Amino acid sequence: MKELKGAGASAGIVVGPVFIISDEQGEIPELESPVDAIRQASNDVRDQLVELSAAAAELGRTEPAEILNAQSLMAEDPMLIDEVESRLGDGMNLGDAIHGARDQVADMLASMNDEYLAARAHDVREVADRIFRHLSGVTAQGLSDMTTPAVVVASALTAAETATMDVDFVLGFAAAEGGPTGHVAVIARSLGIPAVVGTVNLMEVVTAGDVVGIDGSSGRVAVNPSEQVVLEFESDRLKYEAQKRAAALYKGRPVTFGNRPISIAANVASGPDIASAVAAQSDGVGLYRTEFLFLDGDSAPTEDEQYALYRAAVEAFEDTVVVRTFDIGGDKPAPYLELPEEENPFLGVRGVRLYDQFAELFQSQARALLRAAVHGKLSVMIPMVGTVDDLTGVRHHFDVARTRLASEGVPYGDIKLGVMIEVPSAALNAKQLAQTADFFSIGTNDLTQYTMAADRTAGTLAHYSDAAHPAVLRLCKIAAKAANKRGITISVCGESAADPVTALLFAAMGVHKLSVSPVAVDMVRSTIDNADADVVKDLLKRALKANSAGEVRQLMASVI
Ligand code: PEP
Ligand code: MG
Repeated sequence: MKELKGAGASAGIVVGPVFIISDEQGEIPELESPVDAIRQASNDVRDQLVELSAAAAELGRTEPAEILNAQSLMAEDPMLIDEVESRLGDGMNLGDAIHGARDQVADMLASMNDEYLAARAHDVREVADRIFRHLSGVTAQGLSDMTTPAVVVASALTAAETATMDVDFVLGFAAAEGGPTGHVAVIARSLGIPAVVGTVNLMEVVTAGDVVGIDGSSGRVAVNPSEQVVLEFESDRLKYEAQKRAAALYKGRPVTFGNRPISIAANVASGPDIASAVAAQSDGVGLYRTEFLFLDGDSAPTEDEQYALYRAAVEAFEDTVVVRTFDIGGDKPAPYLELPEEENPFLGVRGVRLYDQFAELFQSQARALLRAAVHGKLSVMIPMVGTVDDLTGVRHHFDVARTRLASEGVPYGDIKLGVMIEVPSAALNAKQLAQTADFFSIGTNDLTQYTMAADRTAGTLAHYSDAAHPAVLRLCKIAAKAANKRGITISVCGESAADPVTALLFAAMGVHKLSVSPVAVDMVRSTIDNADADVVKDLLKRALKANSAGEVRQLMASVI
């Protein structure tokens, strides 16, 4: 047995067989006849994909089976193989020929004005990479190869991969890289998949055939756990399940802190998340992360597609749905926008900083939102606002959208326009921003990253990524004070809204709403409602003067 320590990214405890995703590509050795080799390899890969598709179909996984089947056809499609052969004819080596053909065919499909073909570009890439790995002798597997439930182990996972995980197969995952507030962790929480990230040495220790136990709260990872450790995991799992059951008594109940009502809303990113939020009876949606609609695919969604989704969201709730405009950039790139490479993407052109450059793309979202607002209570929130000018710029884009809709005779509704407080300058300037913003929502994931200057996706910096740090708390306090003085709503929608320690401190600061993953709604309701507000307010004063996040957590231990 080997014990490792990562950062808890999504609560839940599981022990199970590993499914290793290796990102190794390997190298193709010198071959006597590369043309014969590519033909043979494409046949072999086609056969593999046919088998995988059949296995998926047998398990009732219709959609993955169809995708694998389409990929099997692609593996023998002359479009790809002819391109490889033509490059070989020009004297290129086999590896470069496969990559060149892959990029050419995928780009060609992506550029076509046909949604179906554009989506196939992604499949071409997967198939070409699979052929490459086959020739190099690396048998790397991807999530779509899973046919039995297992704990996924990977050096790193992308946000898109995590978002498409099949919860019936992924019992949980452990990753060597990533931080607890990175988007991969955020998505795992929303799917209710136990996850540990930033697990140093993971890939060196785990091999195929191992069993692994993970605790998504403490970050504990045990490889081939002893019987004793399996019992410990089981006892922790039972405790966690008991806590969840106690919290379930709060389903749909309004809660107060002292005698002040606090709304507990949900964070969502997709249709299924909205269904989970409805099932959790959250007080509306406090953060609808729309960028995932823009990341998963080879082109942006159309205005009508967006309208249908936003409308469905507002119609699902009586309470307000807060939709965040696309926050592309940072750890969420959209390849088809062809943004230049940046040295520091988190400090680069991200969120609101993209909207002038991609004004028409932003118009499609603004119009869709304004149209959806006819059908319910919809608020719009802007990510990465650092200055008052950022917000003024967005107001202008919305004015343009309204003028155009009016001239076209298209009905639109009223929206509130708020800002995320996630850049330290926005928190420090909250008083000025509150004159122009209709509401605030603190994004503690980024506010912590930017305050502590610690990349939220870096596993090695996970110990800096704690919103309970007094420096972060003080910035939140400034924003809460400014909002209350101006009489606008302030919420917290970062992951710390679901952490009992910080959730209570935010409530004590005067925050009106906490927005959390649907699975955490009941737990947060119970935490807030059971607290003694006067005691927590006293603790807040001490927390703001503490030396470290650890000290704050110690202070709060008496009331959690
Ligand atoms: C945040 O930064 O806290 C936030 C809620 O936004 P995201 O995690 O999507 O960056
Ligand atoms: Mg953010």
